[in-house]
Formats: sequence, C-alpha cells, structure tokens
Amino acid sequence: MSTTMERPPARLESFVPELVYFEPDALSYPKGKRIYEWAVQQGLPVRMTTSHNRITDLPGESELEKYRIAKRTLVVGLRKTLKFDTSKPSAEYAIPIATGCMAHCHYCYLQTTLGAKPYVRVYVNTEEIMDAARGYIAERAPQITRFEAACTSDPVGLEPISGSLAELIEFMADQELGRLRFVTKFHHVDSLLGLRHNGHTRIRFSVNARYVIKNFEPATSSFEQRIEAAGKVARAGYPIGFLIAPIIWHDGWEEGYAELLDRLAKALPSGVPDLTFELIQHRFTKTAKNTIEKRYPKTKLEMDIEKRKYKWGRWGQGKYVYPDEQADALRMFISERIFDRFPQATIDYFT
Ligand code: SF4
Repeated sequence: MSTTMERPPARLESFVPELVYFEPDALSYPKGKRIYEWAVQQGLPVRMTTSHNRITDLPGESELEKYRIAKRTLVVGLRKTLKFDTSKPSAEYAIPIATGCMAHCHYCYLQTTLGAKPYVRVYVNTEEIMDAARGYIAERAPQITRFEAACTSDPVGLEPISGSLAELIEFMADQELGRLRFVTKFHHVDSLLGLRHNGHTRIRFSVNARYVIKNFEPATSSFEQRIEAAGKVARAGYPIGFLIAPIIWHDGWEEGYAELLDRLAKALPSGVPDLTFELIQHRFTKTAKNTIEKRYPKTKLEMDIEKRKYKWGRWGQGKYVYPDEQADALRMFISERIFDRFPQATIDYFT
C-alpha cells in the first residue's frame, strides 16, 4: 500500500480583475450597474473609458508586462456591432457577449485575432444582442440556427461576473429554432445548473492530454475541475460535448490521449445521451508563431515549419498542420478510443 498522500489538484477560484474600465453608457444598464457595484465592493481600481475598443493607458513598462496586465483588465461596455460573424464548422453564427480571456494558453488564436487589444471585454446590452439573434433565427426558418458563444472569449470563466450565459440559455430555451453552444476550459457552471434550458444549449468542455494541460494552459481550470463540471451539467440534463483541442503530437501522446478518454469515461454518468466530440489538431500561422515566441519565450510548443504541412487558407495566410501521416494517426487513435469508451457518441469533425 502506498504511504504517500495524493495531493488534491490546485483549485482555480473565479477571475477577479486587477483593473476595471467602464464605458459611461454601460452604467445605465442593470448589468453594468451591478458589475460597477461589485468592482467597488471588491476595492478594485475603476476607470472610465470613452470606448471599449480604445484602451490606451494600460499600465506596464514593457510590451510583455502590458500584455499580462491587459489579461487581468476587465472592460465593461456596449456591443455596438450587432452583425454576427459566421462560426463554421461548429455553428452558423458567433453570438458576441464577451471578447478576450484571462487565461494564458500558449497556442490561443485570440493572440493574433485580438492584436493589440488582449484585455477582457464584457457587453452589458444582452437584450439587444438577443434581439439580433431573433432576427438571424427568423431569416433561416424553418432551419435550426446555432449560435456559438465562445468564439472570441471563454464565457464560463466570466460568468460569475457577467451572468450573460444564464440570460442566453433561458432566452434560447424559448426559441424553437435557436440553439446555443459554447466551449470552456473553466468550471464555473454552478449558476447554470438550475436554469430552464429546454435542451437547447450544448455545453462543451475543452479537454486534453495531461502533458498539454500542464505545459500550455496556464490560468485555466484543472482537468479535474472541468470533468467535475461536465458531470454536473450532464446531470442537469444539458446536452454535453468535448472538444479535444489542440491535439498535440508529443512523446507519449498515445498514453496521454488514452488516459484522457479513460478518465472521461470514469467521471461521467454512464450512457450520457447525445454526447459529441470535436477534434482539432494543433495548427499555427507564421504570424501566430512570432507572437507566441514573443509572449511565451520559454514555451515548449513545437512550431517547426519544417515538420509541418502547409495548408492554404481560403482567406489570408495559410496554416501549418501536421503532415497527413501524423494527422491520420492522431485522428484514428483518438476516434477509436472515443467509440470504445463512448459507443453512443458522435464525432462532429476532425480538422
Ligand atoms: S481558455 Fe480558451 S480563450 Fe482563454 S486563453 Fe485558453 S484557449 Fe484562449
């Protein structure tokens, strides 16, 4: 018998920013007022800004320090553009409730897409955002329209502050032809469990091999916390899913991904219905590689273009993915494990 006590994994508490900005108009919305009162009560420094798109006075001596501080800065404003972006392959549209994320996943594409604005923005005009969603649903009727809430952020990590997902979930419960989905690396789901969702919201958890979580996903919830949260949302009757992304080729990847699927199978209630998996291999652009190397200079993320296959992009620059032989090995191994452990599951795509 082992005498060593297993240490419980570190618990990640809710995000508390170090600095909060408000657009003046945000304070005339109940959500804006509530967040303002919370920030004052927490003793956080509060500043005003004319636009959430133009925060120019962030503290920090160097670029790197400014970046780190930006990731701990919350900006509360109004979403003015109510034209939604498309969000293939997982949904028809991206529904904008937040932009930016406080976590530090080395590979995160927000580093390039958000450019010089990595701070975390939440929007208080949820009613207007839901009205716009109604319009998109009507346009596509009688087809179902799916909205992805995690295209530019991780909204579960922000839910304790914003409460926006709860509003969207209850809104979508009443939309016969509307569906909501989001994906997360956070575990803050407790406020969502008792909501009336009508099966119209799919909550997915982004999971990975132990090596990937340990080396490339600082400031996210631990694997154990995510799995515990997945069990809770499954028991609350939500359709659930897992994104295994990014799938990374590393020494021991077969054991790593086999262990992941074993642990998922053990942690979930057996026979969870309507379970989906989405599989995304690691990819990067040249621009992303440059940014990652500057922001996380010690990263172990392998981005050697000589070892990759170039995939032309339909818009703009192409991406480096794994050569076909490696991609096929990853896809086949992980798919077999999924069907072995979860015969009822569907794999939506491998890309
Ligand atoms: S949790 Fe998601 S959005 Fe946040 S840094 Fe990691 S990959 Fe990016």
